[in-house]
Amino acid sequence: MAKEIILTGDRPTGALHLGHYVGSLRKRVAMQDTGKYDTFVMIADLQALTDNADNPEKIRQNILEVMLDYLAVGLTPDKTTFLVQSHIPALYELPMYYSNLVTMSRLERNPTIKNEIKMRDFERSIPVGFMTYPISQAADITAFKAKYVPVGEDQLPMLEQAREIVNSFNRIYKCDILVEPEAVLPDNASCNRLVGIDGNTKMSKSLGNCIYLKDDEKTLKQKIMSMFTDPTHINVSDPGHTEGNPVFIYLEAFSTDEDFANFMPEYKNLAEMKEHYERGGLGDMKCKKLLNNVMQQFLAPIRARREEYEKDKGELLNILRKGTERAIEVSNQTVSEVRNAIGINYFNDKSFLERFVK
Ligand code: ATP
Ligand code: MG
Repeated sequence: MAKEIILTGDRPTGALHLGHYVGSLRKRVAMQDTGKYDTFVMIADLQALTDNADNPEKIRQNILEVMLDYLAVGLTPDKTTFLVQSHIPALYELPMYYSNLVTMSRLERNPTIKNEIKMRDFERSIPVGFMTYPISQAADITAFKAKYVPVGEDQLPMLEQAREIVNSFNRIYKCDILVEPEAVLPDNASCNRLVGIDGNTKMSKSLGNCIYLKDDEKTLKQKIMSMFTDPTHINVSDPGHTEGNPVFIYLEAFSTDEDFANFMPEYKNLAEMKEHYERGGLGDMKCKKLLNNVMQQFLAPIRARREEYEKDKGELLNILRKGTERAIEVSNQTVSEVRNAIGINYFNDKSFLERFVK
């Protein structure tokens, strides 16, 4: 039986951060390593252009940065197909068909789009390409017939839109060519939308509140020591809040009981430590020191692998080129089925030709 397909991607607008890791990369690597899936990972440069049309250099600079992060976290070319969005003809063609199946008001209702418009100050001048990127994203997913899309929670409305398109398409053109995708969310709720180091509800490149996978030891430590915590926890003896407190959210996302044994044996696990913080008597500095130890240990091997791959950028490009070539083939097959279903494959359609050719 053919393997089930996974597709996800990232915008090459900067290096990847902890939000990407817990929201999506961690799941991608785990699913890749089961060997049960055919995994596609896409660098979404077309989508990045929708709000960076005047700054393509930023995108050029980040293509290989993102590739480096992928390989550093453990995605590997023998198990995953890496592709660059702008080089896949299907991803220009499919949105043309799909855009007829989506209304303007449906696009305007998309909560993620609404949010992003606000974040980007687009209110008065929204690029058409930006407004329609959910359609383009539906093309990315369906072109490869992906069933699983490991993503953070902010992407759920995009998956909903993609499913609607799939259902409309299959119904209108009486076929079952397109596959309905489903989101694969992180196991841990605090990872659905990892907060920023400033306490903002989302760690995001655009908000400048990220810890990057490639941050060096010193930068990582500085960022952790400057993290927002509980503003009502002024003296060590004050009772503190762990809910919504980024230090505890990151500990939730990254620490293990073993880390407590290694770095803070006075607690058995995070629950015990939280309890102490809430009761009062545990200072922020001590919590941050633990977090620093946990994160240094987590990021050190990622950083080391990244440095290794950085030595041969030509090889990175080769990996991306090869993956893209395979992705073109796979998605062209879908396009050909889509054209058949719509009935616009005039020159290859026997029943159409028979009407005219004697
Ligand atoms: P930009 O600011 O350029 O939009 P971003 O930091 O929001 O960048 P994207 O490239 O838009 O990152 O997101 C790629 C993937 O990473 C998506 O699946 C998204 O859900 C996930 N992701 C990004 N940020 C977070 C976060 N803070 N928590 C959980 N998942 C996240
Ligand atoms: Mg984003």
